[in-house]
Amino acid sequence: MNRQFTRTLVTTALPYANGPVHLGHLAGVYLPADIYVRFNRLRGKDIIHIGGSDEHGVPITITADKEGISPQDVVDRYHTLNLDAFTRCGISFDYYGRTSSKGHFKTAQTFFQEINGKDIFIKKKERHFFDPETKRFLSDRYVTGTCPICKNPEANGDQCEQCGTHLSPRELIDPRSKLSERVPELRETLHWYFPLGRFQERLENYVSGHEDDWRHNVLNYTRTWLKQGLSERAITRDIHWGIPVPLDNEEAKGKVLYVWFDAVLGYISFTREWAEKKCEPELWREYWQNPDCRVIHFIGKDNVVFHTLMFPAILMAWNEGRSDSLYSLADNVPASEFMNFEGRKFSKSRNYAVYLGEFLDRFPADTLRYTIAMNYPENKDSDFSWSDFQNRTNGELADTLGNFIKRSIDFTNVKFNGSIPCECSEEDWGSLGIDWKKSFEKLEKAYEEFHFREAVTLTMQIARSANRYLTDSEPWKVLKTDPDAAARTMALSVNLCYTLAIVWYPVLPHTANRIYEMLGFRETLDEAIKSGNVSWEMAKSPGLGKGHRLSGQSGILFRKIEDKDIAPELEKIERLVAGIERKEKGLGESMNFKPEISFDDFLDVDLRVATVTACEKVKKADKLLKLQLKVGSETRQVLAGIAQSYAPESIIGKNVILVANLAERTIRGELSQGMILAVEGNDGRLNLVEAQGSGINGKIVQ
Ligand SMILES: [Zn+2]
Repeated sequence: MNRQFTRTLVTTALPYANGPVHLGHLAGVYLPADIYVRFNRLRGKDIIHIGGSDEHGVPITITADKEGISPQDVVDRYHTLNLDAFTRCGISFDYYGRTSSKGHFKTAQTFFQEINGKDIFIKKKERHFFDPETKRFLSDRYVTGTCPICKNPEANGDQCEQCGTHLSPRELIDPRSKLSERVPELRETLHWYFPLGRFQERLENYVSGHEDDWRHNVLNYTRTWLKQGLSERAITRDIHWGIPVPLDNEEAKGKVLYVWFDAVLGYISFTREWAEKKCEPELWREYWQNPDCRVIHFIGKDNVVFHTLMFPAILMAWNEGRSDSLYSLADNVPASEFMNFEGRKFSKSRNYAVYLGEFLDRFPADTLRYTIAMNYPENKDSDFSWSDFQNRTNGELADTLGNFIKRSIDFTNVKFNGSIPCECSEEDWGSLGIDWKKSFEKLEKAYEEFHFREAVTLTMQIARSANRYLTDSEPWKVLKTDPDAAARTMALSVNLCYTLAIVWYPVLPHTANRIYEMLGFRETLDEAIKSGNVSWEMAKSPGLGKGHRLSGQSGILFRKIEDKDIAPELEKIERLVAGIERKEKGLGESMNFKPEISFDDFLDVDLRVATVTACEKVKKADKLLKLQLKVGSETRQVLAGIAQSYAPESIIGKNVILVANLAERTIRGELSQGMILAVEGNDGRLNLVEAQGSGINGKIVQ
């Protein structure tokens, strides 16, 4: 579809706030979206990038139970962690929201009410396991029992970890509730279903309207679903963590919206929150309800049908029978394939991943952005490897782009007093061996059609031509015999620096800003683009005239990556792969030890024996006990996630091991001054580590 839009809304898949984002997520979704958005900002387009955390669902409650904290604590942690990593990576969201926000509750509930009011939902009665003690329906993961296949007594309700069989909770022998260890009862419960089939024809028409502009993988996944015929999908669940079904009746009590229905609506909620923050609370409608806006969802391939069938069907259900406030459907859904890591799939459960935040602790964002863009998994899976990262950083970024910029700036600073010695003529500009018009046409087409690898490759070609030109012109030699020629070389070179700052901005925003600063501008490149002082068009011809003063400063843009820098990463992979292979061969789980620490690090941990003097439950926290501990002459208050394993009164008098020099933190409004040690049993129960012997309260020997 080649229609013209006046504005663009870009959304990125909401990362699930139950773990840190890794490089695979960055490669498939966030980096391509950011590159696209930055390119369009440079062109002066009205474009916004909306993202946020997906904060509901059972896996989050399981993490919370495991750690003895609340689901809110879990999502707070990962929302903060992921947003911080994105920010450091230069992913420039216009707004990054959370599905636990009040505004989002309202959006999701309004959608439910609108569709429910049209009698589109189907209600069905089903029988599910119910825990009679905690009075809760149990999600599959909350039921445990004996595997009917291998007789593993600790199989989960959805899968047996030992033999890998997928199970339903009712197949388990002797099922038990993980919450109370009681035998669960089958109870009838009512759920709302969304009838996707009702929208089959409308969805088919929608999808066939995009045969020419959607990617093959997107069309293929979607068509496979359409061919099978769409059926209904449950949109409610009996769990306590989520958005309550907004009906004031007995039927709806204790039920929340299923996360697949709630999460995609986050795009809308967050756009509204963005508009509110700008003090233009109705502005969001220009993006969602004005057909002149182009909506683009950047996602990974595992999310395709949610964005090409389910979300559009929800919007169709809203639009049905209405004449106002109609929502637009996505114009494109550029779904990526996966990026693997050293030849294997990223796996969070096996800890086989490089997490974005940890990566950025060690290496600069732009070198990562470049390597990943060069390996963008556009139409087939790609691979990230440390050696490729090292080679591209050293050979392409440092030796080509960085080298050219540094030589141009330094030579002008030293030999021409830091100012451009003459005008750069169109003739010189054209003598570079680059067909500027054609290059920019190709580059623009590549960006517009989401071919990011091609765009980065073309951009690097400009840098290569510039670097070759400077090397071949040898101004450092020519200066002695023909100062005018050397001056012309530097006028062209500095103008090329300016062009490179602009064309690299979408991919290397930090570097582009630094180059722009070296060129002597007061405002940052980000600010200049925002205010319209710099645009994409300005990269196409010489922009800096005779006498333009540089800042007088330069610096190394890219530090080379030495073998020793990546050696620990390669060792870590070797260890992880050995562990995975052991497991694949059935040799049992690898121990998966944490990275080595020094003896001194160990001595820094102050372990003490402490006596429990008082203990009580923490209000509204099923897992937490509040302990008062006596350590020598001091008392300490510690919160511990052991309430499922111990009655408060049963641990008074026990001598436990306290990590005494841990930073204090507040959990659920209560101060916790340290941690105590416990051992996890096969049944998931925690057993406190107790000090034996006489004369306790002394120091523990480390
Ligand atoms: Zn089994």
